[in-house]
Amino acid sequence: MMKKPLSAEILSVGTELLLGGTANTDARDISVYLSELGINVFYHTVVGDNPERLAGAVEIARERADIIITTGGLGPTCDDLTKQVLAGAFDLEMVFHKELAEEMTRYFREVIGVGSMTENNLQQAYLPAGCAVFHNEWGTAPGCAFFAGGVHVIMLPGPPRECNAMFKACAMPYLRALSDEVILSHGLNIVGSGESAVEAKLRDMMNGLTNPTLAPYAKEGEVLLRVTAKAGTLAEAEEMMRPVIAQVRGILGDIVYGVDALSLEQVVCRLLNEKNMTLSTAESCTGGLIAKRVTDLSGSSKIFPGGTVCYAAKSKTKVLGVPAELLEKYGAVSAETAAAMAEGVKALFGSSVAVATTGLAGPEGDGVNPVGTVFVALAAGERSFVARLSSGRGRARVRTLAANCALDMIRRFLTGLPVCADYRRP
Ligand code: ATP
Ligand code: MG
Repeated sequence: MMKKPLSAEILSVGTELLLGGTANTDARDISVYLSELGINVFYHTVVGDNPERLAGAVEIARERADIIITTGGLGPTCDDLTKQVLAGAFDLEMVFHKELAEEMTRYFREVIGVGSMTENNLQQAYLPAGCAVFHNEWGTAPGCAFFAGGVHVIMLPGPPRECNAMFKACAMPYLRALSDEVILSHGLNIVGSGESAVEAKLRDMMNGLTNPTLAPYAKEGEVLLRVTAKAGTLAEAEEMMRPVIAQVRGILGDIVYGVDALSLEQVVCRLLNEKNMTLSTAESCTGGLIAKRVTDLSGSSKIFPGGTVCYAAKSKTKVLGVPAELLEKYGAVSAETAAAMAEGVKALFGSSVAVATTGLAGPEGDGVNPVGTVFVALAAGERSFVARLSSGRGRARVRTLAANCALDMIRRFLTGLPVCADYRRP
């Protein structure tokens, strides 16, 4: 019998979150971690730095969650009341921790570089009696966890860097220890299809699954499909996931570009490296986005001799050698121009493969092609391939999808998959 999964409520404390100046990224990040742990998040609550309203929110949360995770309000200023209010709600005394006070003094001396700290900092060394102390190596306010009244309470500081680091270092092990099951998940990376199309193809399969589970997440121009299994051991969980992953691959085919891949560009760079090949780029409407994504990766100098951004028609002729007559005849936004750009940049840098983009990112059109039309070309050896994208409106989106398409064409070419319809030279 499967045990009922634990449920959590994230209680974010801070008036700045209510005023709109600060987005509640802590709750978002913690939710992602909790889903990896197989803990359901049913509520996100935000409350200002007000003790009565915070106490009210705690009363509600303890009735409907097994785990309450608070963020913020652990600092030294008078509006930092989270610990006092939570301790009060669960009838716990506040206890002074001498070692925390010493740790804080050391932090001020060695990290911040001041000899003394103000008295109010010592407030942070008081924690609810009997709690597990979460040391804060990333700031001064310690966090903590306790179990009282049938509820687990975890308190983390508000600054996102500290909150994230302490969740991973302290809260994660605490929560893992609550369950004798292990939770393992893998992410299948999908490009070239939207979330709803992926969901439609997998709906029947997803509905029939309870463990492992399958859930799609939309990313910019991509879909991440998370497979999560609970089992007694990691090996068992892995074994349970294997046939599910194989079935998904069978249904979706070659739009799955990786399992737990960091990014499409990372997969492309790895393939180029393995094959001792190089890539160059000729970008118009993507304005260097492909080159940026490739050079974001360390070690890309081995596979990327260089790229160009040729925006004006004249530059395409001057730098890439695209014949002026060709531009005149077919227009800058055309399959012919895209292919000539890719071939031109391949010759310019002497790379093994090259990609090019030319299109209308919008909002203005060219009177011929609709906004969002992009031609993406790949040149390799004596061959050129051109894909035509119609990405609709939204400048950033059109550019991201065009860059994804270019990277995916390289991946498909290097793995022997059909790249797209072969393009014949004019
Ligand atoms: P400190 O020791 O810095 O006072 P704290 O635990 O008291 O830590 P807060 O004072 O509540 O935390 O918040 C510090 C800063 O962290 C806020 O100014 C805000 O920018 C950021 N912050 C707080 N809560 C969140 C949140 N839920 N999501 C994102 N950022 C947050
Ligand atoms: Mg504060």
